Parts: sequence; structure tokens; C-alpha cells
Amino acid sequence: MNSIIPLSIAPMGMINCFLIKGSTHYILADTGVPNSEANILKQLKELRISKEEINLMILTHAHIDHFGSAARMKEILNVPVLAHRLDEPYFRTGQPDTTTMKPTEPIWNLLRKNLINKKTLPVSIDIVMEADEVYSLHPWGVEGVVIHTPGHTKGSLSIILENGEAIIMDMMASGILLGGIMLRSRVKHPPFHDDFKALHNSFTKVLSYPGDRYYLGHGGPVTRQKVKEYHELFL
Ligand SMILES: [Zn+2]
Ligand SMILES: [Zn+2]
Repeated sequence: MNSIIPLSIAPMGMINCFLIKGSTHYILADTGVPNSEANILKQLKELRISKEEINLMILTHAHIDHFGSAARMKEILNVPVLAHRLDEPYFRTGQPDTTTMKPTEPIWNLLRKNLINKKTLPVSIDIVMEADEVYSLHPWGVEGVVIHTPGHTKGSLSIILENGEAIIMDMMASGILLGGIMLRSRVKHPPFHDDFKALHNSFTKVLSYPGDRYYLGHGGPVTRQKVKEYHELFL
């Protein structure tokens, strides 16, 4: 049975990445901020999962809090990396996609200013998803798909499992501050979105698949009802 296991990059759900349990192996979805590798390896150890049990890495989008440790983790795990064509240039250069960092609230201008010159190590992408391709995870032992859900960035990806769980990462956030901490069911914008219209359409796409538990990069997880609330009231 497949399942999603959250890994904590910053405490209390402020920044999350995820493991997806497959029939024989695990997939790592995102890698957190730079220098998160020791933290990720520690959590794998606590879960009694060896690094050899991970066979794929998925990068959902080219913001530094999601691919900051991708190069190091790829080296440590020695696995292929999947991402979308439209975010690939940023992974290849290690320069996050700051063009998409349009603050959703004035307060996030401060965060943007702090992040704008941040770089990380470049990481090569082995499996590049094109346009609106739907990528089946079946060969990796997971019954589910990776779909293109632009809006937060142009090449943002979501992972939808047949068991009703999904990772929609930064399509929305929940909780207080960066996300999580408290009031995790309270939906809100993440600090940045690139294109609200595209994001609206991506939510329609995500909701066209059955699902009842949605995992987020900041805060979460949230119910389908909360996803609908964000889609209908915030976008
Ligand atoms: Zn993001
Ligand atoms: Zn994020």
C-alpha cells in the first residue's frame, strides 16, 4: 500500500518535504533548503529507511526551500531526478526562479529581499516532463501520477496517488507564519505565486482526480474541502 510520509525541514510544519512509500522502494519529493541533507538522513534513519531504498527524486518546483539540497541528495542517494521542463533551467544553474516570486502579501517583500540573491548547487534533471504530460509512477512501484500544475511557478508539479493522498506542495499553504505551527486547517496563500489564473486552472485539474488528503510544503495536510475553499475563495 502506498502512503505519504512527511519529513520536517523546519519545525512544526513550516517547511516540509516528503517520502512516498512504494511497493519496494521510496520516492523523495523535494529536499528542503540548502544544507538539509544531514537532517533528511537523520529522519530516514529514525524511520529505519536506508538510503538504498530510495529510487527516485521528484522536484516539484524551482524555489530554494524545495531544491536547496537537491544536488547533495542526488549525490548521496545516486538516483535519477524528475522535474518539469519549464523549471529545469533553474535546477541546472542552481539559481532559483525568482521571477515567479511575486509576493501574495506586502509582508513577504521582506522575505523576497532576503531570498533574491540566494543560490544553491546546480542539479541535473534526468527525467524531464514536457508540457501537460501525465507521468505514471507505476514503474517506480507507486500507483499514482505526476501532473503539471503551473501557477505557483511555471513548471510546478503535483503528485496524485490512487489511495486518495496527494502532494500539491506550494499551490496553497495553511496555518500561521510561513505555514504550519498552529491553526493548520486555516488555508492561506504561500508567500509567492507567479500566476493566479494558471493556478486556478491547476486546482481544477487537481480536483478532477479523487482525493481526500493534500500535503503542502508549508503547513498542511488539508482536506479536500479546504482545497476547494482555497480554490473558490482565494483565487
Ligand atoms: Zn514555492
Ligand atoms: Zn515553498
